[in-house]
Amino acid sequence: MAGEPQEDCLFCKIVTGDIPATVVRETETTVAFRDINPQAPTHVLVVPRVHYPDAASLAAAEPAVAADVLREAAEVAAQDGVDASGFRVVFNTGAGAGQTVFHVHAHVLGGRGLQWPPG
Ligand code: 5GP
Ligand code: ZN
Repeated sequence: MAGEPQEDCLFCKIVTGDIPATVVRETETTVAFRDINPQAPTHVLVVPRVHYPDAASLAAAEPAVAADVLREAAEVAAQDGVDASGFRVVFNTGAGAGQTVFHVHAHVLGGRGLQWPPG
């Protein structure tokens, strides 16, 4: 069924606690944890508890949960104190764009100057 946990999915395992992570926020529908290889002073991943491979498929199937992910991205930025200075929310989509984990996740990046366009 759509959204069901996938046995071989790293972020499903972080959601269940089978793989440890530095969790910074949790809601009924989302988990936010620090990226293991941070690219900025704040680098947090926000994932839905349900499994979808990318942002578009989550938004199509469960738009309310997609909105929860976006709301939590802003909450993470506020909690880390990077909301006033500005932050970036990124959904890498597809291997060609650098996606390596196929459980949708918002990267929340902040705490340093962020170039535009990104590399
Ligand atoms: P993507 O490349 O798919 O957009 O982002 C995947 C992110 O997950 C990368 O930034 C990578 O550093 C992070 N990551 C990969 N494995 C782990 C892990 O086991 N724990 C945590 N916290 N982050 C991970
Ligand atoms: Zn998953």
